[in-house]
Amino acid sequence: MAENTEDTKEESFNDNADVLTGQPCPMCRTNNLTLMEAQTDVPYFGAVFVFSMKCSNCGYKMADVEAEESRPACKYTFEVENEEDLKVRVVKSSQATVKIPRIATITPGPISDGYVSNVEGIINRVKDIVESQRDDEDPVIQKKAKNMLKKIQRVLWGREKITIQIDDPSGNSVIVSEKAVKK
Ligand SMILES: [Zn+2]
Repeated sequence: MAENTEDTKEESFNDNADVLTGQPCPMCRTNNLTLMEAQTDVPYFGAVFVFSMKCSNCGYKMADVEAEESRPACKYTFEVENEEDLKVRVVKSSQATVKIPRIATITPGPISDGYVSNVEGIINRVKDIVESQRDDEDPVIQKKAKNMLKKIQRVLWGREKITIQIDDPSGNSVIVSEKAVKK
């Protein structure tokens, strides 16, 4: 179900995306992989290349982003205080660690995609992770997840504050706001 809503949260590929179909899949080795590449312009950051691959045979998929201009490792801290803050543009590469203290951490790894989104998109991804914990067999984890989901929902309504940290050794991530503290 989350699969279908995913595209609406993220910036979709623009019309001039390069698409290559029938490519060899690194997982199942059949020629069912579709490669997509597009470029998007992020204000105050520059051109960002967005890549994705998806195999219609085995379901393997991967996405990542790379800024045209190479930058040093970066660490951003951003306080989400209101609905306006939810619209702030975010680029998150596959190398980045996203941390929302006391709620969740998204670590880099094979299943960690890179994407261009906004603060709301990041929070929604964290929400998906917490929702999967709500179905845990352990009632303690369930209860904790339920409380976190309430908090996340209040943040999405602009009624509660949270802090988002993005730590990216590749320098390909950004939170585009004057309020974001960069180290
Ligand atoms: Zn495959």
